[in-house]
Amino acid sequence: MDDLTTLIAATEATLQGIAADFAPAVFASSLAAEDMVLTDLILRAKLPIGIFSLETGRLHPETLDMIERIESHYGYRVALYRPQPEAVEAYVAQNGLNAFYNSVEMRRECCRIRKVEPLGRALAGQRAWITGQRRAQSSTRAELHVQEDDPAHGMVKFNPLADWSEQDVWNYLRDHGVPYNALHDQGYPSIGCAPCTRAIEPGEDVRAGRWWWENPDSKECGLHMVDGKLIRIKSVAA
Ligand code: SF4
Repeated sequence: MDDLTTLIAATEATLQGIAADFAPAVFASSLAAEDMVLTDLILRAKLPIGIFSLETGRLHPETLDMIERIESHYGYRVALYRPQPEAVEAYVAQNGLNAFYNSVEMRRECCRIRKVEPLGRALAGQRAWITGQRRAQSSTRAELHVQEDDPAHGMVKFNPLADWSEQDVWNYLRDHGVPYNALHDQGYPSIGCAPCTRAIEPGEDVRAGRWWWENPDSKECGLHMVDGKLIRIKSVAA
């Protein structure tokens, strides 16, 4: 077996183990390339793992298009969780629409309203959740494990692609004819909200286009943090 075949087999085994031993479990998809690998593996194997995405209200049209493209390709409708309208209105009224450029604190508050709170609702009642994070994506993810405790949400978090390289992801998508976000062909290796993501130049870090005005060590949206700190508290053998 080549390396990618081995990786795929290990990831399929991880997902099957989650479905068997950690139900109910959900996959939080950002609709980017990594997440499409997991979407393809989950849906082709018909695993009982729900897929949802956080529709922050600030996503690119190309990202929103992925909802329809997944539905037409797989016959599966990704569940969408949106922020509380009154929280968004209060933030914008008090601080302005794009106040996240002003400070890390204002940026994290926007992420808390548009991502972290809706994530909490999406994870309610689950035993485990799954992300498409990879270890090689950034300095904040260097100690990522396939299986981790998530004390913030009181459950187990799985990162089945922790060991995958960017090339592994693209080889998988190409080999399996998986649809992917059109922004990836326009210089966006990592995709978040439109005002907080820009295209990168060849050779730049893959997450250089995310919150590019901030220090690299603060670049997480709060979905993988506890009390404002990045956590990799306890890994568990998968
Ligand atoms: S990524 Fe930007 S627009 Fe999106 S929730 Fe965070 S600060 Fe707000």
